[in-house]
Amino acid sequence: MKKQDVFDAYVSCIMNTYSRFPIVFTKGKGSFLWDIDGKKYIDLFPGWAVSVLGHCPSSVINGIRYQAARLVHLPNNFYHIQQAKLAKELCLLLPFEAKAFFCNSGAEAVEGALKLARAWGASRGKKKIIAMKNSFHGRTMGALTLTGQSVYQQGFDPLVPAVETVEFNDINALEQAIDEKTCAVALELVQGEGGVNIASEEYVGAVRELCDKKDVLLIFDEVQTGIGRCGQWFCFQNYDVCPDIMTLAKGLGGGVPIGAVVARKHIADVFRPGMHATTFGGSPLVCKASLGVLKEIRKKGLLKRVRRLSDKCVDLFKSWQKRWPDKIKDVRAMGFMFGIELKAECKGIVESSLRKGLLINCTHGKVLRIMPALNIPEKVLFSGLEILEGVLDEAFSVD
Ligand SMILES: *Cc1c(COP(=O)(O)O)cnc(C)c1O
Repeated sequence: MKKQDVFDAYVSCIMNTYSRFPIVFTKGKGSFLWDIDGKKYIDLFPGWAVSVLGHCPSSVINGIRYQAARLVHLPNNFYHIQQAKLAKELCLLLPFEAKAFFCNSGAEAVEGALKLARAWGASRGKKKIIAMKNSFHGRTMGALTLTGQSVYQQGFDPLVPAVETVEFNDINALEQAIDEKTCAVALELVQGEGGVNIASEEYVGAVRELCDKKDVLLIFDEVQTGIGRCGQWFCFQNYDVCPDIMTLAKGLGGGVPIGAVVARKHIADVFRPGMHATTFGGSPLVCKASLGVLKEIRKKGLLKRVRRLSDKCVDLFKSWQKRWPDKIKDVRAMGFMFGIELKAECKGIVESSLRKGLLINCTHGKVLRIMPALNIPEKVLFSGLEILEGVLDEAFSVD
């Protein structure tokens, strides 16, 4: 297919739900991508935080190859080895006794967490769920209701009842919203889509205390922050505060679609056969791929590496802020989750970067978001950032 044929097919046969850049990618390896014209790009936002080990990592690809030749899919009314192994590995990584439910995406993990929380609350007469303003939890109806941004909800009402949103990082707002009917609080420790907003340590500690005091479940949505992204297996380990329920997805499969709901054992056991299910979830193929991700992160010591390189990047971004104090408002980071907040819209910066062969993201209008692969070679990372510095220099000197 020629480039124009691809564009035409999208226009005529694919629903118009995304605005896309006019590039057709045909190949990816590590932190590089190639388009249909053979142009090479450095990818500092691989797969929207999905490709934690970059594109086509051999640790994942070899597992897929192995499993594809043996057993790809199996319904969940039978047992298979890969799901058993993955669940055991995940549970071993957690500092509390837990059980997992495997699904296929972030939104589906959030739905599972909501159902589990409501099922737990049912016997206690608790149904209300509190989420945060400016959050992002996905596009299905339940996850959309939790997503505290009207821009995503507009036109899709009525949403799911008994959900309330309160100000992020504001313990008083939460305290006022929690009542005897509340079963759960859902929180992103770092609001990714919302602009890389970081929950403060005091806040997260206070949320945990409040939830314990009021017998309310605490859900951490780690779909974006989990699996090494924030310099720990799970971002909550940066806070020393544990959730009751956690959602995972994006990085968990290193590129294949997988999500998981993880919950403390006594909560997880509220689910009985028939209460929740998914046809594709936890197939041999995706579980094998995910096992490759976990193994590679452990084997290569990537968590420590992320923490070290994160500091180096922050130093660089802070030096940019010093250089352009009237252009850069703030620099925020947690591991390999970076937000550079500009004082003006950043869409143009992303487009100029693409022209210079660099992929980054812009969220919430003014926040440049960078989420490199955990294993990106240091040289590639800083070559990419050098391109970005050039783009910023150009953009900032014209206006
Ligand atoms: C991306 C994201 C989701 C939704 O995941 P999908 O796989 O797109 O459904 C949910 N929560 C958070 C925190 C996310 O970043």
